[in-house]
Amino acid sequence: MNLWFTENQTDNLRLSFRIKKLIDFRKSKFQSLAVYDTFEYGRLFTLDDFVMLTEKDEFVYHEMISHVALSCHPNPENILVIGGGDGGTIREIERHVRVNKITLVEIDKEVVDIAKKHLPFVACGFEDKRVDVFIEDGIEYIKNHKNEYDIIFIDSTDPVAFAEGLFRTDFYQFVFDALKEDGIMVAQTEYPFLKGDFIKQVYSSLKEVFPIVSPYLAFIPTYPTGMWSFAFASKKYHFINDLNPEFTKPFADRLKYYTPEIHKAAFALPPFIKKLID
Ligand code: SAM
Repeated sequence: MNLWFTENQTDNLRLSFRIKKLIDFRKSKFQSLAVYDTFEYGRLFTLDDFVMLTEKDEFVYHEMISHVALSCHPNPENILVIGGGDGGTIREIERHVRVNKITLVEIDKEVVDIAKKHLPFVACGFEDKRVDVFIEDGIEYIKNHKNEYDIIFIDSTDPVAFAEGLFRTDFYQFVFDALKEDGIMVAQTEYPFLKGDFIKQVYSSLKEVFPIVSPYLAFIPTYPTGMWSFAFASKKYHFINDLNPEFTKPFADRLKYYTPEIHKAAFALPPFIKKLID
């Protein structure tokens, strides 16, 4: 008998994975959480039946959300991650010895727990002694921190419910204020093919707050449409002019997607996306 997990990406678009078995299912006060074993992509982690990551392709997202900004900042000592409770983003940040401190603010402790139990390939990020984990709402947390962080990563779920506030102008202003005078913010900003209006609104909000703003792209087969976007929003450093390939050289052989060439190519935007953000 064939068992399938289906993600309803929109009312008219679905993605199905043939599964070997359901590993874990639980409900927190925020969302439902599930881990499956799949035939094509290994372990699959979902929140409210949306794909968060798969064992086979998570490296694309986690390398691209982290190494782009870390390759443009000369002294990224103090890092904040909002969301990211699976540990994949902090796993990548930890490769940079220049980083002294990583604070992760995840609203749902069940995410951290289920990752530590069933997703060791990303939860290994929690083992580093530079990491402090706070279980709280990032929207509240950010208001109490000023001029403190070199880079802030917003590794959140889609802009709905308790994550919706992470995509608003007032939140971006709080992020701006929590960054040092040469700080950078990176946020996942969904998929341009079917979320054009959302992308338009997010980038106009970001441009109200940050002087240097650009989307960049990566290709993630298990995310809707396969083309994913991230926002690079910076007070001082430029995403191409300040790229220093030396920063990822010490561990380049351990990366499976990010290279300085991919970094530059990720900012070469197709006209349909340029039109959305200009
Ligand atoms: N890579 C995934 C993606 O792009 O959809 C996201 C990874 S991570 C699992 C997303 C995390 O953001 C979830 O664990 C969720 O609980 C957390 N989150 C959502 N809203 C939050 C908020 N306001 N404060 C802190 N964490 C939040």
